[in-house]
Amino acid sequence: MSILKQRIAAMIEDNGPISLATYMALCLMDTDHGYYTNATPFGQEGDFITAPEVSQMFGELLGAWVVTQHQKCRIKGAFTLCEMGPGRGTLMADMLRTLQKIAPSIFAPAHIALLEASPKLREKQTLKLKPFEKDIQFLDKLEALPDQPTLFIGNEFFDALPIRQYIRQNQRWHERLVTLSGEDFTLQAAPLPEASTLGLLEPASDGTIAEICTPALTMMEWIAHHIEQHKGAGLFIDYGHLKSGTGDTLQAVSNHKYTSLFEAPGKADLTAHVDFDALSRVAKSAGLETILTTQGAFLLKLGLLERAGQLGAGKPHAQQEEIRDAVERLAAPDQMGELFKVMEIMP
Ligand code: SAH
Repeated sequence: MSILKQRIAAMIEDNGPISLATYMALCLMDTDHGYYTNATPFGQEGDFITAPEVSQMFGELLGAWVVTQHQKCRIKGAFTLCEMGPGRGTLMADMLRTLQKIAPSIFAPAHIALLEASPKLREKQTLKLKPFEKDIQFLDKLEALPDQPTLFIGNEFFDALPIRQYIRQNQRWHERLVTLSGEDFTLQAAPLPEASTLGLLEPASDGTIAEICTPALTMMEWIAHHIEQHKGAGLFIDYGHLKSGTGDTLQAVSNHKYTSLFEAPGKADLTAHVDFDALSRVAKSAGLETILTTQGAFLLKLGLLERAGQLGAGKPHAQQEEIRDAVERLAAPDQMGELFKVMEIMP
C-alpha cells in the first residue's frame, strides 16, 4: 500500500468515512504525496496534454483576448493579469510573449499573479517566466490580489477542484462517502439530514447522481465581486457542460488512460466536469454578463486559422503538418473543440 493510501485508510479508520471532496483534495494536493505536488503531469510524457501544451497558438490567441478586454474595460495604468492553476507556465509565457509583441503598453504595467498550490509547479513557472523579467506574485488564495483592475484566466483549473457527490436512493438524497472495504476504498451512501436539500433536484429518480463543486462556486463569486468593484474580466476554459445536469463525471486519468479512482491515490489525475451553468449563475447574480461557448468556436473567432497560416508560412512541409494537426486537436468537434467549453465574464 502506498504511503498516501495508508494515510487515508488510517484517517477513515480513526474518524469514519470521508467525503469525495476530501479524498480528491488529498489525492491531488497532499503536501508530500499529492498528484500535483509531486508529479509533472502534463505533456507528451505526462498523463495528459492540455491545450497550451498542444500549441503556442492557444496562448497567443488568449493574449489577443487580454488585449481586447483591456481595451474594452478602458483600463488605465496598473492592472493584474491573474492565472489560476498555471501548470508548467506555458500559457502565461505565450500570452506574455504576445503582449510584448503586439501591445507593449499593456505588457509594461501588467502585474502578474499566479494562483498555484503546488510548490514544485511554482518553481517550474518561475523558471519559465524568467525571461520576461517581471515580478511574479504567487497566491495561496485570491484574496491576496491587489485592489485594481484584473483579468482572470484559467485553463483546466476548475476541473481539478474537489467536488462532493450525491446519489438518490429511496426517494432521498445521500452523500457518497469514501470508506474502507478490507484494504480497499469503496463508496458508501449516507443519507442527508431531511432538512438539508442543498438545492439538489427534487423530485429525482432513484440512482440519479448530482455533483457540487463548492470551491469553484465560492471562487467565482469572489472573482465576480472583484471585477464588479475594480473592473476587469475573466476567461475560463474547461472540460464541462453548458447546462447543469446530473450524472457521475468524476474520473481518474493516468498515462493517457482512464483508471480507477481508488487504485493508486496521488498517482492519477482526478477531475470532474465543470458545471458552467452554475458558475455563470453565480457571476450573473453578482451583476456581470457571461458568454458561454465551445473551445472550437471561441478559438476560431479569435483567429486560429489566420494565426496558423501565418505561423506556417514559408516553413517546411513537416512543420506545416504539425501546425495543421494542432489546429485539429484544439478546435475539431471530435477532439477538444466541443468537449471543452469557454466562459467569459465581464461587466
Ligand atoms: N492550466 C494548466 C494546468 C492545468 S492542471 C494547463 O492548461 O496546462 C491544474 C493546475 O491547477 C495545476 O497547476 C495545479 O497545481 C493547480 N491547482 C489545482 N488545484 C488547485 C488549488 N486548489 N489551488 C491552486 N492551484 C491548484
